[in-house]
Order: sequence, then structure tokens, then C-alpha cells
Amino acid sequence: MIQTVVFDTKPYDREALQRAASGRGIELRFMEWRLSAETAATAHGAQAVCTFVNDRVDRPCLEALAALGVKHIALRCAGFNSIDLPAAKELGLVVTRVPAYSPYAVAEHAVALLLALNRKIPRANNRVHDLNFSLQGLVGFDLHGKTAGIFGTGKIGRITAQILRGFGMKVLAYDPFPSPDWAIEHGVEYTDARTLASQSEVISLHTPLTPETRHIICRESLELMKPGTILVNVSRGALIDTTALIEALKSGRLGGVALDVYEEEEGVFFEDLSGQILQDDELARLLTFPNVLITAHQAFLTAEALSEIARVTVENIVAFGNGQPLLPETSLT
Ligand code: NAD
Repeated sequence: MIQTVVFDTKPYDREALQRAASGRGIELRFMEWRLSAETAATAHGAQAVCTFVNDRVDRPCLEALAALGVKHIALRCAGFNSIDLPAAKELGLVVTRVPAYSPYAVAEHAVALLLALNRKIPRANNRVHDLNFSLQGLVGFDLHGKTAGIFGTGKIGRITAQILRGFGMKVLAYDPFPSPDWAIEHGVEYTDARTLASQSEVISLHTPLTPETRHIICRESLELMKPGTILVNVSRGALIDTTALIEALKSGRLGGVALDVYEEEEGVFFEDLSGQILQDDELARLLTFPNVLITAHQAFLTAEALSEIARVTVENIVAFGNGQPLLPETSLT
């Protein structure tokens, strides 16, 4: 049996992983807490650990895991900014991820947020439940004929662009590694980052978080945006400088901001903190703006995505545990 400790688990991912692991020679031990240097000791006896987006798999954590005899870190997500890959390599730890589970799930959530924010659906729904049927303050704008800027045209960015083309939007895109054939096929126009920022009414971020993309949305890029622009981020929180974002929102220049991710989401998103006192002042401030819509990192959360994440994660654990080749594109070290 391949002993595997699974960190930061919730009932929905436990269920999917248990189903995928059934009869595959894996023993899963589920932990509710996140993996970090402080909690690494709870992986004792494991050959593999399985982590999610907010585990902190830094060098001290990896050293602790290596000392325990852990050989494999199986990320059950696409983004790998949570792990220090050079340190893992140095320590001889194999790291795998799930590069694509359902890019549709994430792209559709980005568009759901855009529609809900632009047409003020959460506010309208709250009003109607309070028997307030007034439409005052609920004016949105037609997406048809407007320009969307897609920052990053990988798997998720491309699907988001295609959906927005379906609404009759003009789509501009920026990516250091463009896909020219795809752009021609779908009527998408590549441009530079500044032009994208200054000419779009809707900007959606689909790049991974790397040292180059950290705070790619900062005071300067926010100032380039047209007044009334809607910004959507379903990728990683630290793509946006939150302090600069709050300033831009206070100035009234931004049309709205839809976030599924937040710079300081670790320890907050995925948790039920109702009844507690929120300690994050910037998140508290964001929650006061009528034109800010936030979901707690749920873009991936569809039945299809959960079972595909579980399937690929289990395949990786079984393959590595049995000395077989890993699935293509899943290996990070
Ligand atoms: P992908 O690797 O297919 O595409 C990423 C694209 O970004 C690539 O085309 C790459 O060239 C481009 N890129 C890299 N650096 C860039 C830069 N400086 N400027 C512009 N583009 C740049 O990844 P994907 O599957 O489309 O996922 C994108 C991101 O979405 C992931 O890295 C992850 O952080 C995030 N994500 C979020 C959720 C969620 O639930 N909210 C779920 C899955 C993925």
C-alpha cells in the first residue's frame, strides 16, 4: 500500500479522492490542516503527500518532509506557486500536479462573475428577497460590442476568450507565448500589455503567479485602464497589488472588480469564519465596495473538475509509487 497523507481536505475532495483511489493500492490519510513546516511532522510514515493551493510547501517544509522519508509531493491543482521547486529538486523529491482538469470550470466561473457583477445580480437578488423591487442603481452595460482583454491565453484564458467572443465582444489578448493559429480561428487580436490595459472595458487575468507576474496589476497598470473597466481575477490573488486596487476603487475610476482569489487568502478562503472577527483589514475594506464581488477560490468547483483532479492525482501517486512513468505534463521536477 502506498501511504499518502492528504492535506487541507474538505468533504467534497475527500469523497472524490476516495472514489478514485478505491482498489488502487493507496492508503489515504486525510488532514484538515494545511501543510507547512509546522505541520509537516504529521506526514510521518507517508511515501507521498498530497497538497492544494494554500499549503505552504517552502524549503523548511520540504526539508522536514524529506527527513521523514517522503518521496513524492502530489499537487491536486494546476498552479504550483505554493511550492519551492528548486528546493524540491535539490532534495530529490518528485513533484507532480494536475495541469488541466476542467479549464471550462474556471473559465465559466470567470464569466459568471463578470455577468453577475456587471448586471448587479447579487444586489438585485438581495433586494428582491427584502421585497425591494426598485431598479435604482442596477444599471449595467451590454457586453456585446465592448472590448475584453485576456491576460494569458493558456487553457483557461483561451476558453474565456471564446465565451466572450460568443457574446459579440472584441477580444484583445496578451501572452509572451501567443497562440497565433487559435487567435485567427477565434477572431482574437494579440497586442501588448499596455494596449490591452488601456483599450479594454473588461480585463480578465489568466496567467500563473510567477516572480514576473506578481503585482502585474499595480497602481501604474490600474491608471492605464479606462474609467469604468471591470477587472476579473480567477487566477492567483498576488497578480494584483491589493493596496493599489483599493485606492483605485476608492477613486471611483474602476467599474468593478470580481475576485475568486485574494493575495492573503491562505487561512481565510475555504474556511467558515462566520461568527469570528475578520482580522484582514484589506479584505474587510474590499467587502465594503458595492462594485466588488468575491468568491472564495471556487472557480474549480464542479463535479467534473473534482473527479478529474482526483483521477489524475491518484494516477500520479500510483505510477510513482510503483516505479512506472508518470502521466505526461504532470511532472514538475
Ligand atoms: P496555462 O499554463 O495553460 O496558461 C497560462 C498562460 O499564461 C500561458 O499561455 C503563459 O504563456 C501565460 N503567461 C505566462 N506569463 C505571462 C505573463 N507575464 N503575461 C501574460 N501571460 C503570461 O494555465 P491555465 O490552466 O490556463 O491556468 C492559469 C492559472 O489559473 C493557473 O496558473 C492557476 O494559477 C489559475 N487557476 C485558478 C483556479 C481557481 O479555482 N480559481 C483553478 C485552476 C487554475
